[in-house]
Amino acid sequence: MLNIILFGPPGAGKGTQSTFLVEEYGLVHLSTGDIFRANIKGSTELGQLAQSYMDKGQLVPDDVTIRMLESEVNKFPDAKGFIFDGFPRTTTQAVALDSFLEGRGTPVSCMLALDVEEEELKSRLIARAETSGRADDADPAVIQNRINVYRKETEPVAEHYAAQGKYTGIDGIGTIEEITDRLKAAIPAV
Ligand code: AMP
Repeated sequence: MLNIILFGPPGAGKGTQSTFLVEEYGLVHLSTGDIFRANIKGSTELGQLAQSYMDKGQLVPDDVTIRMLESEVNKFPDAKGFIFDGFPRTTTQAVALDSFLEGRGTPVSCMLALDVEEEELKSRLIARAETSGRADDADPAVIQNRINVYRKETEPVAEHYAAQGKYTGIDGIGTIEEITDRLKAAIPAV
């Protein structure tokens, strides 16, 4: 079982790279941002709650996010593994994920962290707004807030997995193919 955390700031390319890794390794892709957006589209109660945070570039509360993620994982009992994209985003989420996966006997295999500098992230997100239709990509103040939240609340999650010897930093600048190759080279054989 291969459980990969694809990590990095907003605009680092996690979603794009996930689609290639899913194909290559036959994994289930779980993006908490995508799941929240599907709930917003479906006008669920969870969607309404999530939207109030997402519109401002803030994190959805841990308890709600953790419960949602665990129920998504449980929908795929036959999965060969998962790519976690956009989760965990806090140390509390990381601790919850570790104990949830260890309880299933399928711990996190590795964290691959895409490294992209801030100015590049901002220009990628503004460009993405043209096609993503995401309000949180179109507003520079919300983008800045998402980056600030990442630095403060999410970056420490990297330390959490580094302490377990599971962290690999990946240069996130280059062509999509070059970055996919770097990621593949860092994925442990199972
Ligand atoms: P993303 O699609 O990963 O850029 O996420 C979009 C937004 O969804 C974030 O700015 C947060 O408001 C929310 N979100 C996604 N994943 C999480 C998470 N793991 N914890 C809390 N909020 C999240």
